[in-house]
Amino acid sequence: MRNTQATNLIFELSQPGRCGVCIAQSDVPQQDPAKWFPAGALAASAPPLPELTEPDVVRHFTNLSTLNMSIDTHYYPLGSCTMKYNPKRNERIAAFDGLAQIHPYQPDETVQGMLQLLYGLQDMLAEISGLPVVSLQPAAGAHGELTALMLAAAYYRDRGEKRTTVLAPDSAHGTNPASARMAGFDFVTIPSCSDGRVDVEKLKEQLNDQTAVFMITNPSTLGLFDDQVQEISDLVHEFGGLIYLDGANMNAILGITRPGDFGADMMHFNPHKTFSGPHGGGGPGAGPICVTAELGAYLPKPIVGFDDGSQTYFLDNDRPKSIGRVRSFFGNVGVLVRAYSYILSHGPVGLKRIAENAVLNANYLLSQVKGFLDVPLGNRCMHEFVASAESIGKQNGLKQPAMDIAKRLLDYGYHPPTVYFPLTVHEAMMMEPTETESKQTLDAFAKTLETIVQESPEVLATAPHSTIISRPDEVQAARKPIMKWTPKQD
Ligand SMILES: *Cc1c(COP(=O)(O)O)cnc(C)c1O
Repeated sequence: MRNTQATNLIFELSQPGRCGVCIAQSDVPQQDPAKWFPAGALAASAPPLPELTEPDVVRHFTNLSTLNMSIDTHYYPLGSCTMKYNPKRNERIAAFDGLAQIHPYQPDETVQGMLQLLYGLQDMLAEISGLPVVSLQPAAGAHGELTALMLAAAYYRDRGEKRTTVLAPDSAHGTNPASARMAGFDFVTIPSCSDGRVDVEKLKEQLNDQTAVFMITNPSTLGLFDDQVQEISDLVHEFGGLIYLDGANMNAILGITRPGDFGADMMHFNPHKTFSGPHGGGGPGAGPICVTAELGAYLPKPIVGFDDGSQTYFLDNDRPKSIGRVRSFFGNVGVLVRAYSYILSHGPVGLKRIAENAVLNANYLLSQVKGFLDVPLGNRCMHEFVASAESIGKQNGLKQPAMDIAKRLLDYGYHPPTVYFPLTVHEAMMMEPTETESKQTLDAFAKTLETIVQESPEVLATAPHSTIISRPDEVQAARKPIMKWTPKQD
């Protein structure tokens, strides 16, 4: 049941004279602030801080925390985001004092355990990606993209080549063009064929001696594995360009195939998607990148090294071609510890089973959903698929049916799928069940969806009906949030 009671602001709960803590009487004589500060720096009256007891405060924030959906409370099939269940074991390990309490300025010899762990993670990511040199520094997937494109720029500069263009298919995540522009490249979109794969003929038209990088998400955001990827990478390499693999969808291919084996030169992982890092709420995440030996020289420094002679781990700063730092200290280490714990606890066999079950679950859900929603790209998918609510909208006179269905799902206690992405499918609803859900959960979700698409247009167009706020103006809520409380005059 969703909590609909925590609607009062903390200011409205305030009662004059209530207090959560008692501070001892000060033994310092009181001073007149006007003696010490210029008049303009002093407020005319004390700020209207809320006055509450400790239990009032605890209840208020605990109630607020239940207004949001989370993986621990609700099924969360948000496509492209891999909202799988995060095993609590990884949380406990990341909180170990010996890991959580160390300081990044400690000398290397006092943090050998952490360095060994990070070195091990570099090794495991190299093995999983098929790309041998790893930087754990980037702070998110998008930051990994930017870092890798900066690497590509450094690589071409070093070779005296002037290459200006980054290309990606039209199904790419918005971070791809954004990263390309931030790294100083021009960006060109390559159309997809009607089957969702890259249009190789259109790609050929755009390849030339200005081509720096082709970015490909494989499996793509349409939930399809592009089997032309080897051909595409050979083509791009013929023109002297590099292949970047957006690894957000690694959950579908862990232990089955490796980007380094199908032609990628660089890639990022999203440990907060694939390796169960806590997810949502704005982070922190992480975006480790893996690259070929040739590109390894340009990686951000330091990376973790191991000295055979003294058998110790060290931060390797002696990297003259490095692009420098992209993140303070060593990146978001807490997320990296969870990824290390997750990968080790599954092992190679377990990782492969993750991918197999993620794909199995997505195909099962697809088979249940296609009876009442169009799935334009066919009957098979990888870890996710994209349905379209376009025809439901036409039948019911709904202007934005994907949004209406998504909003209505909130009333039934489900976090909605990703909607209106990828842009290539009209009224897109992108569903990614993940491997951690049971058949019962998927059945119940599909049944609810079926109920919803048969509901009256009036109910759908005004949903959700059970939440405190129904349809905020999302753009204004993000750009002009109301952050200031004004006391009611009465
Ligand atoms: C999530 C995602 C990204 C961006 O990753 P962040 O960690 O959120 O910065 C990039 N590409 C795809 C396909 C994604 O799904």
